[in-house]
Amino acid sequence: MKTWLAAAALAFAMTATPAAAQDKVRVVATFSIIADFARNVGGDAVEVSELVGPDSDAHVYAPSPADAKRLADAKVVLMNGLGFEGWLERLVKASGTKAAVAVTTKGITPRRMQDDGHGHSHGRSDPHAWQSVANARVYVTNIRDALAAADPNRKATYDANAAAYLAKLDALEAEVKATVATIPAERRRIITTHDSFGYFAAAYGVSFIAPQGVSTEAEVSARDLAKIIRQVKAQKIPAVFMENVTDPRLMKRIAEETGAKIGGRLYSDALSAADGPAASYLDMMRHNLKELRGALMS
Ligand code: ZN
Repeated sequence: MKTWLAAAALAFAMTATPAAAQDKVRVVATFSIIADFARNVGGDAVEVSELVGPDSDAHVYAPSPADAKRLADAKVVLMNGLGFEGWLERLVKASGTKAAVAVTTKGITPRRMQDDGHGHSHGRSDPHAWQSVANARVYVTNIRDALAAADPNRKATYDANAAAYLAKLDALEAEVKATVATIPAERRRIITTHDSFGYFAAAYGVSFIAPQGVSTEAEVSARDLAKIIRQVKAQKIPAVFMENVTDPRLMKRIAEETGAKIGGRLYSDALSAADGPAASYLDMMRHNLKELRGALMS
């Protein structure tokens, strides 16, 4: 009986196509942007799910028992690192998962935060590395290597998919640089709620200021708000932006007090839902670019 089953299984494996003979690799990404990269690199060979969904804030996420179950069933877990998912380590332990946990920012030089004057951000790394396209390339190569390590039979597929996607990132990066170059340097100044565009700022020469630090956990004090309002007035900053993961009221108040215009909604820490304007990383970067240019050029 046992021999018969083994022989049948072998015959099946030899006649079936590789994709049908092997199960898809179960991949869990901590949030939507990494999940999108993983779908592009994994293609049909993987089944990707994400813990923190579209328009949701990973800084303050509270995992559920269903998340632990998903980790337990996963072969690969993809995380951002740099302090973004403070809740993940406990969840991984609680789940008992045997999955390989890959830090997708490995190799990226982190942006170190300055002390904000009352010790809130002292010694912290900025986790929002995906906001530079050059860094997105590093995420993609790390994901490619993590998938190939977990599923070496399909290494060639992951290599080819990653190469095709990296070419799209190259085209995107050229587009970002060309668009920013059309905005006069003295107008490239923006406010967002939390400090999520530091890598974009450093890579492309747009300056962002934010009342809230690199995490959305801390409340903005009256003193910080007053300081920002003075700064917006003094520097004649043209536009304030909402983010898809933050409360819009703070930016509305700053706009009212300073006369800066509200420039629209940027996607900082999460993609939009599938029917929204930023359902993929490529769409998110293009949407943000269009919003920035629209507000700063008018
Ligand atoms: Zn953030």
